[in-house]
Amino acid sequence: MIKKLIPNYYFKSIYDIPYETLYSEGIRLLLLDMDNTLISYKETLPSDNLKELKKRLENMGFELILVSNSRKNRVNNFCDAFEIPYVKFSIKPLKRGIKKAMKKIAKNKYKKEEVLLLGDQLMTDIFGGNRCGLKTGLIEAIDKSTDIGPTRANRKLERYFLKRIKKKFPDLYDERLKEYGGD
Ligand SMILES: [Mg+2]
Repeated sequence: MIKKLIPNYYFKSIYDIPYETLYSEGIRLLLLDMDNTLISYKETLPSDNLKELKKRLENMGFELILVSNSRKNRVNNFCDAFEIPYVKFSIKPLKRGIKKAMKKIAKNKYKKEEVLLLGDQLMTDIFGGNRCGLKTGLIEAIDKSTDIGPTRANRKLERYFLKRIKKKFPDLYDERLKEYGGD
């Protein structure tokens, strides 16, 4: 199980990703977490920068779908403004919501290896994406101080598992999680 918590990539933010390289490597569908990946819990709407990024990615040929564990209306409001299809209350790390995005929304167009899931949490985003056999990219949370209750609990678990990963897979840890772990 512990290996399934290791992302394929680590990025400082959604803006610091070599999208061209990922595209050339065959990635076509981006599954995006919302809270603390695209916006902090304090924000409600996409910034102009975020809208520009989305336009750029779509022009490059990526398809984007948001997959959020939140069941609040803020997901609908954000996605309407961002003009992006979404799955809310997706219960990551369970496979259901992720599969729904790939099958129902993307209509089974993509193979697993063409899909990259981007999110700020090991226990939900990375674990969920890896369980589905997708590529996964861990993003540094925009503002951890805005995390809500369940996320705070996940962060505690995360710290425990980071230590275990560091011990069991030191090379992978150094390559992908060192910066995230604060070492
Ligand atoms: Mg998140």
